[in-house]
Amino acid sequence: MNTILEEIGYEDWNRPSNIKAFISKKRSHLQQIELDFSRGPEGLPNCSVSTNELYKVLPLMDDSAFIRQVHGIDIIQSPSKDFFPEADGAFSLQKDNPCVVLTADCLPLMFCDQNGKLAGILHCGWRGLVNGIINSLHKHVEISFKNLSFWLGPTLCINCFEVKKDFIDHLNLINEDYLNFVHASNDKYFFDIRSLCVELLGMQKASKVAVSKECTFCLEDKYHSYRRNKTRARHASIIWIS
Ligand SMILES: [Zn+2]
Repeated sequence: MNTILEEIGYEDWNRPSNIKAFISKKRSHLQQIELDFSRGPEGLPNCSVSTNELYKVLPLMDDSAFIRQVHGIDIIQSPSKDFFPEADGAFSLQKDNPCVVLTADCLPLMFCDQNGKLAGILHCGWRGLVNGIINSLHKHVEISFKNLSFWLGPTLCINCFEVKKDFIDHLNLINEDYLNFVHASNDKYFFDIRSLCVELLGMQKASKVAVSKECTFCLEDKYHSYRRNKTRARHASIIWIS
């Protein structure tokens, strides 16, 4: 399936103009840029774009530019093509050093500093969040969250994130406060991953937090959803300093 990369609008996430942030979506007739993340004979991604900022990032989008996501809390600095570490977050202080995560329902959490000198992204599933990936980020970036701006990307809305009793028991074991993000309705239970993420950011004094309201399960034409059909397809969320 063709995939397009769409820039996250500055009206959706107010950030310094040199911070470039894109997310891939399923192709639609409204969208102009067509990309294929498979690699051509020269090793470069197939790409119909040649003159804009996007082109600069595409040569870096080969397999080794990604992190090996494991639903953990490790975060690396300056991801490179030369290694493929287990990590669920990456950030960089360098220009043209894109940080990428792949998701299908999990929450991509982008961030940058107010001066456009730092940019990064976390892969936030519920495991990473309840096990402390936000605290891990705080330790790694060594910068106050007051000086960072965050964007929560598309993920499951609460109506689409049904959970079972064993999930609730597990949360309760880790921290009973997490049960505040489980809501009951008609004998079913639903988990509010967005609100948990916002709460965890708030506990670290983050004040600039923008939230996409888009749900990967509800919006079948735009997003892949593992919960919908156990797909192997993923969305790439990409951020870099230009
Ligand atoms: Zn939904």
